[in-house]
Amino acid sequence: MNTTELLQFDRDHLWHPYTSTIDPLPVYPVAKAEGVTITLADGTELIDGMSSWWAAVHGYNHPVLNAAAKAQLEKMSHIMFGGFTHEPAVELGAKLLPLLPPSMDKIFYADSGSVAVEVAMKMAIQYWQSQGKTEKHRFATIRSGYHGDTWHAMSVCDPVTGMHGLFAGSLPVQYFLPQPAVKFAEPWQEEAIRPLEDLLKQEGDKIAALILEPIVQGAGGMYFYSPTYLVRARALCEQYQVLLIFDEIATGFGRTGKLFAWEHAGVEPDIMCIGKALTGGYLTLSATITTQPIADTICGGEAGCFMHGPTFMGNPLACAIASASVSLLLESDWQANVRRIEQQLKAELAPAAALPSVAEVRVLGAIGVLEMREPVNMARLQKRFVQEGIWVRPFGKLVYLMPPFIIRPDQLTKLTSGLLRVLSD
Ligand code: PMP
Repeated sequence: MNTTELLQFDRDHLWHPYTSTIDPLPVYPVAKAEGVTITLADGTELIDGMSSWWAAVHGYNHPVLNAAAKAQLEKMSHIMFGGFTHEPAVELGAKLLPLLPPSMDKIFYADSGSVAVEVAMKMAIQYWQSQGKTEKHRFATIRSGYHGDTWHAMSVCDPVTGMHGLFAGSLPVQYFLPQPAVKFAEPWQEEAIRPLEDLLKQEGDKIAALILEPIVQGAGGMYFYSPTYLVRARALCEQYQVLLIFDEIATGFGRTGKLFAWEHAGVEPDIMCIGKALTGGYLTLSATITTQPIADTICGGEAGCFMHGPTFMGNPLACAIASASVSLLLESDWQANVRRIEQQLKAELAPAAALPSVAEVRVLGAIGVLEMREPVNMARLQKRFVQEGIWVRPFGKLVYLMPPFIIRPDQLTKLTSGLLRVLSD
């Protein structure tokens, strides 16, 4: 198939994320990717500013991850997790536990971020059910969040930018709190926690858990909020007997400057979800982790077990790559890399604040965000970015960079200068 035929088949038959089949947005055929360079079919080279949606922290085609994949393939790529266990799953678990909040003890491997969120929410409901509290089955969250596209995950995404309008009547109805008013580095204001306090006081007996993306809200708004919000939320959840779920699917593995975002606040969740960069962006794998008392309470109930078990649970190939990816991250100087990227993003994106189309510039860790005053024309901007030799995929009013941690300063400058040139046009 030549490139023209490939693009025609794609247009005729393949669905892309959030894309119309009637008038699909253009797609660019990729031939290969290595390091931070994505090569298109016509030889055009692009510097990657997206890490394939937070995942490819080590860049692409990494020799260590390739070797881990090949070695595992020679043994088995998959075996059912029902009745079997294997080295890749155990080794990965043993590597993860010391990196997670100290109370986390029981790991449930799942297929994707959305499924990890479903699993977390199901755990929370089963936890209360096991104690005869069947009325505690709803969830609280904050506006502008994003937790995935499956059913219950969707129900806790932002009610306006999410799909609530479309699926109204069939989605579970949850409790939405205002986005935390205090930004990441701003001084704390006690009023910011009042809505949560009022909600838990009034409705706590109906709420199974509060689910949050700690510190950084990702796809729902790329917003960075105060660690004190998490500290206060932790205390209120304790007081009103509501579980606290941290969705660290996007924030995990160094992106915010800490290995996991909960470390900014120093408070532990009851249940935590990880995914995306877990495999360095090689394969889909996620995990939902909880404490021993919660796991034991769930399993001590009427069902006698946690009622979930996906076909590809603990996939050995994904676990082996994840294990190699976690080691690679820990052996690298990721903190220095993220700090370097943060400083460079701050310096090189600052001039964008002067552009009339830009409402705000914000940077945290290896995440640089330009919030525009109006929603952008994605197809037009993307074309211009490709002409600049950079890969940036904006959405809504947000144009942002989250490059692989291995990006060199000159490559990052190419990203930021290309971005500013396009937005200045
Ligand atoms: N939670 C968060 C915070 C996410 O950013 C995402 C993906 N963007 C998900 C959940 C869902 O993950 P997946 O796309 O792997 O299902």
